Amino acid sequence: LVSKKWKINRTIIDLGDDVTIGGNELAIMAGPCSIENEAQIENTVQHLLKNNIKIMRGGVYKPRSSPYAFRGLGMDGLKLFYKHCKENGIKVITEVMQVSQVEEMLDYVDVFQVGARNSQNFNLLDVLGEVDKPVLIKRGMSGTIEELLASAEYVFSNGNEKLLLCERGIRTYENAYRNTLDLNAIPILKEKSHLPVIVDPSHGIGLRQHVATMALAGVVAGADGIIIEVHEQPENAFSDGQQTLYYEQAEELYRKAKVLFQNI
Ligand code: PEP
Ligand code: MN
Repeated sequence: LVSKKWKINRTIIDLGDDVTIGGNELAIMAGPCSIENEAQIENTVQHLLKNNIKIMRGGVYKPRSSPYAFRGLGMDGLKLFYKHCKENGIKVITEVMQVSQVEEMLDYVDVFQVGARNSQNFNLLDVLGEVDKPVLIKRGMSGTIEELLASAEYVFSNGNEKLLLCERGIRTYENAYRNTLDLNAIPILKEKSHLPVIVDPSHGIGLRQHVATMALAGVVAGADGIIIEVHEQPENAFSDGQQTLYYEQAEELYRKAKVLFQNI
């Protein structure tokens, strides 16, 4: 069902209020790795408004390698996050980690994100197939392209056709950077599937100084959108500061990415 053999026209995801993903405008989703507090939300919203960005990312349930690391503000954080975004016409994308969270999150989310670690959580995918909200599925840490498409198939076959595929880097033997952003996956996914493809260079390379370059490379490769970690003070971010852009860096990237998208 996610294959081009099934549907010839490319899928466009409509988030309402004229916010679409997969059309002839580059979709930009930006925000912190983790939602930290209300001031940070307000600050990020101002940054997005200034740059005409309509979708804010931010985790409230964080999959962390260490149980002692910051694991997110949970539903209290999500409610604040959603409230500020809603007031300002911004859509919310955030990660859902388990089946039991889906229902309570439903009214405070515009796009559900399935993280790399949950890319093959088939029970979660089944349940997300029954909701009326778009779902962005990240490629698994060591997932193949076929496995990502099969994960999307779980959601689609349960009735939810509003899907986005995300390349966020895979684990390889290379350790000069966090993950290996597989740019090859982008044209292949677009060839195989009618679903929009999003590139996440923040997790894909994991090094702030190279995130913008890889985002632009992703656009050239055919991505319909980019998802980027930004923070007013990345060095003080609760998670993923090393790969998080300063606002000025992000602004330069948004400008370049939009121009590039229109010219390829
Ligand atoms: C994130 O988006 O902050 C995240 C945890 O991503 P991933 O699942 O790709 O590691
Ligand atoms: Mn992150």
